[in-house]
This record gives sequence, C-alpha cells and structure tokens, in this order.
Amino acid sequence: MMLTAQPPRTNLALMLPQWIIEKKRDGGELSNEEIRSFVGGYSRGEIPDYQMAALAMAIYFRGMTGAEVGFFTGAMMRSGGVVDTSGIDTPTVDKHSTGGVGDKVSLILAPLAACCGVAVPMISGRGLGITGGTLDKLESIRGYRTDLSIDEFLEVIRECGCSIIGQTSDLAPADKKLYALRDVTGTVPSIPLISASIMSKKLAEGAAGLVLDVKYGRGAFMKTREEARDLAQTMVEIGRRAGRGMRALITDMNQPLGRAAGNAVEVTEVIETLRGNGPPDLVELTLELTAHMLMLGGTAAGRDAALPRLRACLESGEALDRFRRMVELHGGDTRVVDDPTQLPAATRARNVLSPGDGYVSAVDAGLIGRACLVLGAGRTRTEDGVDHAAGITGLVKVGERMRRGEVLAALHSNRVEAIAEAEALTAQAFSFAEDKPARAPLIAEVIS
Ligand code: URA
Repeated sequence: MMLTAQPPRTNLALMLPQWIIEKKRDGGELSNEEIRSFVGGYSRGEIPDYQMAALAMAIYFRGMTGAEVGFFTGAMMRSGGVVDTSGIDTPTVDKHSTGGVGDKVSLILAPLAACCGVAVPMISGRGLGITGGTLDKLESIRGYRTDLSIDEFLEVIRECGCSIIGQTSDLAPADKKLYALRDVTGTVPSIPLISASIMSKKLAEGAAGLVLDVKYGRGAFMKTREEARDLAQTMVEIGRRAGRGMRALITDMNQPLGRAAGNAVEVTEVIETLRGNGPPDLVELTLELTAHMLMLGGTAAGRDAALPRLRACLESGEALDRFRRMVELHGGDTRVVDDPTQLPAATRARNVLSPGDGYVSAVDAGLIGRACLVLGAGRTRTEDGVDHAAGITGLVKVGERMRRGEVLAALHSNRVEAIAEAEALTAQAFSFAEDKPARAPLIAEVIS
C-alpha cells in the first residue's frame, strides 16, 4: 500500500526558477519553499531539464547546508509515493550499501535480521560499471521475481520478515529524472546530490531505521576514507532530520569482499555463508551491519548481545531456512538453496596463476570489477542485460602466501573472446610482497 503525497502546487510566477538558480550560484542558502517549488516544478515537467542542470551545477560548486540537503531530499521523496509499513508489527530496519565488488551482504543480512525480530523492507538496485547489483544476483535464481508490487512486497515481509525487490516507478521519480540528467551534465560527484539521491529512495521505503555501509577504496564510488565519511555524515543527518534511526559504517573496499564476484557465483557464496562456511571478511561485515540493525530496531541492547545471536542463527541453519522461504515467496526455484550447482554455469573457465612466490599485498577491487564486466557479469549502460553465469571465484585474499603457479582466481564466462582480457586484468590486480602485510581494518569507523 502506498501513501501518495504529490508535491504541492506553487505559483512559480512568484518564485522564478532563475532566481533560485542565481541565489545558489551566488552561494546563498535556499529556503524550504524555494526547494519545494523547484523540485515540485521539475517533477511535474514545469521546470525544464536545462534549469535543473544549472541548479545541479550551482549545488556542485556551492554545496548545501544540512537544512537545505534535508529539504531537497524530502522534496524528491515526496515526488512519488511512500511505502506504508504501519501494517508490519515488528521494527522495520533496512541496510544500504554505496556499492562495491563482491558485495553480497544484503542476501545474507536480510534473512538473518528477520530471524532476530527485525523486518527488512529492502528496495535494491542493479549493477552498473564495476559495481555489482543485488537484483542481478537474485535474478540468477530461476523464477525469483524482483518486480513485486508494493502490496506483494509488504505481504512477503509479513510472511517471512524480509523481502528484496527492485525500484518501482512510483518511488522518488524526481530522483530518477535528476540522476539521468546529472549523468550527462558532470554533476554526479557532489556529496549533497548523491546523499539526497540515495536517501530520497531509502526514506520512501518507509523503514524506521537505516544502516548505511559507506565504502571507500579502489572498488568503491568514494576513493578515500575522508570522502566516505563526508558522505556518511551527510546521509546520517538527512535520516535523523526525517526522524529515522541511523547508523553508518565506513568500510574498506580496496579488495573484493569474499572470494567470489559476479552473480550466480556470489549466490553460491551466500548459500555457503548461510550454511556457516562463509569467508571471514564477508561474515565479519555481515554480522556487524546486522548487529547495528538489531540495535536500531531495539531487539538487541548492544553489539555484544547481538553478535552471538546472529552467529547462532547462521550456525543452526535458521537464516538459511529464512532465505529459502524468501526465495519461495518471490517465486524462485528453492532447489538452488540445497544444491547451488543448479545455478547458471558458464561454458568456459580459466585459472589465473601466481607469477612468483610471496604474500599477496593487494587485490585491486577496481580491476577485478572490470574483469567481471569483460566476462559479462556487469553492464556499462543501464539498459544492458548481464550474464548471470559469468564471474570470478576462488579469489585469494590480501595476506595469503602464494607459490609460483598456484591459482589466484578462476574466471568463468560464456564469452570465449573475453577470457584473455579478463585474465590480464585479474593478473594485474594482484600485488605481492616478501613480508606478510599488516591487516587493514575492514570496518574503519562507525558513525552513530
Ligand atoms: N547512487 C544513487 O542512487 N545516486 C547517486 O547519486 C549515486 C549513487
């Protein structure tokens, strides 16, 4: 059920768009009314793209105050409907990641949180460029519907405590239009615009709490920890102003998460993790993020209370059962949960071998993401499809000792012509050192 809050009509003659653009161009602070009239006019088609592009560029250079970015987000959220989660009788908390390589956390975290009494209404995206997408991974399970209506979505959550679907056209439509415009006007990398874009969609989901995983590093949108912290703080403040419980974890995305990157290959790793056999970095990040969800939802007093419960749900198979039920309610083939070999498999495989002896000192997640794209696992344009079978498995991690000729990673693809290029990119991603490198923390900071 959606609560439809159409943007109120305003008399634009009293507030000309060019005056608002000029005010921001000259470094002024826009009022709530000015922002509402501009975003409302833009979403109704009364303000043309060229004026919105000019405002976006002025925001890019001048930035926004906390109040402005909060109003801007609210106006974009109200350009469409807001999911009404009031019929769910457990606390609702979602998680959002700014995206990375091998990031399959949502598929494990949603059923895990549901097992511990937190309902997870999750609306996710598709992969673009080197960044993988939760929907593409889920769609490698035959029959899994990511296009449920909002009523079906709410029904699945009432039934099993979690549901993961794709963006509906009614959620924050102004953001969809503005994002496409920013993409072609050089205005994507602006912290207020990115924050408003992400948060307008997340607030429209109607969850009472939100945990953010803001990534930095070679495989992330934000290259430095400082940029990631700025983005996280801006998003946390937007959420707080909107009355939501907020946490943000700043996490390292210099090397891929886990040992698999792609779609079906990541679902296999998800199932292994839900069986209690996940790679340590993936397990650590998933448990920490889920623990914060339980704290926000009020079902655990603190991290020390949350973590043992979460581990027990993984080890007992309870979270795996919850995942199976979610797949079933989405129309997916649950046989893959017991037998992941039923997932799509590629026709070609090739191992990438270590060129010498030594410790792995870096695995460049950006290059691994590019290799996945070349293999067919990702897309360069939003309208493209992906090959669910393509990807990389067995990725060796930083700190592991290798001997010449041992396998660093295995490539999988249906594109014969792509393997050599992907092999070169993957080999280039690995650096080696004689001494064991110091372990960088996966979770650099928590903003709460
Ligand atoms: N993801 C979004 O949804 N919006 C942005 O602006 C950047 C990343």
